[in-house]
Amino acid sequence: MAYDDLSRVLADEMHRRRDGGPSPSTVNKASGETVIRAGGTGETMFVIQVGEAEILNDGLVLDVVGPGGVVGEMALVDGSLRSATVRARTDLRLMPISKADFGLLIRSRPEFGLYVMKVMSLRLRLMNTRLGNAIEDISARQEIERELRAMAARDPLTGTSNRKHFAEMGAIEVERSQRHGRELSIAMLDVDHFKVVNDTYGHACGDSVLRSIVEAAQDELRTGDILGRVGGEEFAFLMPETGITAGLAIAERIRQRIAGQTLAWDGKTFELTASIGVAAWNPGEPTVDPALARADESLYAAKDQGRNRVVAYGN
Ligand code: GH3
Ligand code: MG
Ligand code: MG
Repeated sequence: MAYDDLSRVLADEMHRRRDGGPSPSTVNKASGETVIRAGGTGETMFVIQVGEAEILNDGLVLDVVGPGGVVGEMALVDGSLRSATVRARTDLRLMPISKADFGLLIRSRPEFGLYVMKVMSLRLRLMNTRLGNAIEDISARQEIERELRAMAARDPLTGTSNRKHFAEMGAIEVERSQRHGRELSIAMLDVDHFKVVNDTYGHACGDSVLRSIVEAAQDELRTGDILGRVGGEEFAFLMPETGITAGLAIAERIRQRIAGQTLAWDGKTFELTASIGVAAWNPGEPTVDPALARADESLYAAKDQGRNRVVAYGN
């Protein structure tokens, strides 16, 4: 923004205003010195006669101003504290303009007022661009972080919680159940003869079956229940605020739903079953692991008893 002979025009003008009195003084600043400090009060603006100054906002250079340029105009216009720091980039010679002279100049030289407005809107635009970029950066980064977190918690094949996330949710639920004196049931599900599906129809069919098992289980589980894939064709679910009897009923609904599904692959249809073991978390148990182990034991009892059934721990 050039207004090369601004300082001469202003000097003449002020000289004239002072009835031929002394010309306005100048101020020198060495390279690196602070001209204006952000947060300070401002009664003076400066016209740069020689050298370059940088306007710093949050430690970043917002603008570099050369001869004819002005700094410190904002605080004079709105009477607020200095919004930015101005530092000498090279040795500087500045002409200070007091608040009183500023008012007089605006009135007597409208082009000066226009010039100050241009400077201010340019800096406003710079700030807006910088703010816009910063916000875009932040939201893009937040979005990536959200996706990464979600990815880290999910099993990529079925979209359900992976083992790690399931364990984290287990810890939260145990803590919550302990605190509120509530029941918590846990179940382990294993697909029956799943190997046969892979061997007969192929691995891709097996994958698709796993997805339909998750869908079936999710349809029967309630909001607040947590399903996780804890092994190849093994799933666990946590049922907060649920005792063993209600837990058994939910597991039974899931078993029936899976057994009732007709699956199709390559024009052929087949059915599949699953076995489920259910156990209650015992108050005082610090983690979900002992209950998970009991549910696993019951699961193997269900397998032993002929599969396609639900067994509660201790039965
Ligand atoms: P059981 O009734 O005793 O559980 O018999 P099963 O055949 O289900 O048990 P087994 O442990 O012998 O076989 C589990 C099979 O699950 C073996 C493995 O290849 C398959 N499997 C594990 N993970 C995946 C997967 O991500 N996709 C597919 N398609 N198969 C998987
Ligand atoms: Mg298995
Ligand atoms: Mg199996």
